[in-house]
Amino acid sequence: MIWRSLALAAALVLTGCTAGPVALPVPERVPATTRSAVHTPSATPTPSPTATTPSPKPTPKPTSTAPAKDTRKGAQLNTPYTVLGIPVVSKKHRISAAYAPKNPTGAYHLESTAAAALARMAAAARSDGVRIRVHSGYRSWAAQFASYQRAKRNYPQNLSFYAPAGASEHQTGLAVDLWDGVTWSLPMAYTATGRWLFKHAHEYGFVLRYPKGKTNITGYHYEPWHYRYIGKADATKFTSNSLTLEEYLGLA
Ligand SMILES: [Zn+2]
Repeated sequence: MIWRSLALAAALVLTGCTAGPVALPVPERVPATTRSAVHTPSATPTPSPTATTPSPKPTPKPTSTAPAKDTRKGAQLNTPYTVLGIPVVSKKHRISAAYAPKNPTGAYHLESTAAAALARMAAAARSDGVRIRVHSGYRSWAAQFASYQRAKRNYPQNLSFYAPAGASEHQTGLAVDLWDGVTWSLPMAYTATGRWLFKHAHEYGFVLRYPKGKTNITGYHYEPWHYRYIGKADATKFTSNSLTLEEYLGLA
């Protein structure tokens, strides 16, 4: 109950993800049983004394060739740094205020491909009895700038949840913050919606963009609500919810 109250209180004041203040629940306060239910989907086999140590799985990558360096400057920043057809927008690969989705669709101004995939995903969740609602979709450079300034003033301790202007995927219209309409912030991971997305989002071309424990690579705190559309062919490599786009594209 207390989680719901906290989350509800948060939902009232938050404006969204890397734009939204997150002044509450840290994962450490979540009961361990709940946490393992979400993050340990399969049972761990008991090691037998004769079992050999398995070699670590290689990181799935579309190619072994190193991507071209991001050398954009000036007007070139009007176009995102793109590797193997996947636009990458982050603190290291920024875009200018001029960039916006080419085919914005629907109330959240998502890129049309992402909007269509999101509609398919939401319908599939609905048929499983799970509700997916959009907390935040496209955000302009100016909106992100204002949000980051507010965060610096009001939530300096939580700044790793926020993107500076030009460093937010939301400006591409390819990223969404999702929830069930009730429980926001980190407890969102433990809702039916959070669990369903963890399990199925990749089937619809979306990846959990800021996995737990990968802040040093992504530049952002773990965000169980932030999903990024990259297309099904690539997203199906992200089933573990621990792979980052940077690792996948050879940028990490
Ligand atoms: Zn977000």
